[in-house]
Amino acid sequence: MKKSDWFLAGGILIIAVALLGYQFLANGGDPSESVVVVTVDGEEYGSYPLTEDCSVDIGETNRLVISGGTAVMEWADCPDQICVHHSSVSRNGESIICLPNEVVVSIQGGAEPELDGMVQ
Ligand SMILES: [Zn+2]
Repeated sequence: MKKSDWFLAGGILIIAVALLGYQFLANGGDPSESVVVVTVDGEEYGSYPLTEDCSVDIGETNRLVISGGTAVMEWADCPDQICVHHSSVSRNGESIICLPNEVVVSIQGGAEPELDGMVQ
């Protein structure tokens, strides 16, 4: 890898760790309200409910498919294809990262925890 690639990798790792940290702070939520958050080049590209089947073109480089409560990178033009071969994600904090295209797909726990529903 070139030196610039390592900076890129480091940046994406920081984003991934930040997303995971957010998950711990948010302390879960209803799994049925999970959303698939897509980040491109460090900026949020969009978020999509995990409960609704759909196909999302991420720019012209990646295609995300949400089906049956799981998200998978169906297609990408990156040379390594690591994201395409990544297993599907469905649980809080799981993510698919496409390093060459700077695309991060992560599952987040949706809305604020419903405290009312948890109190007996
Ligand atoms: Zn990729």
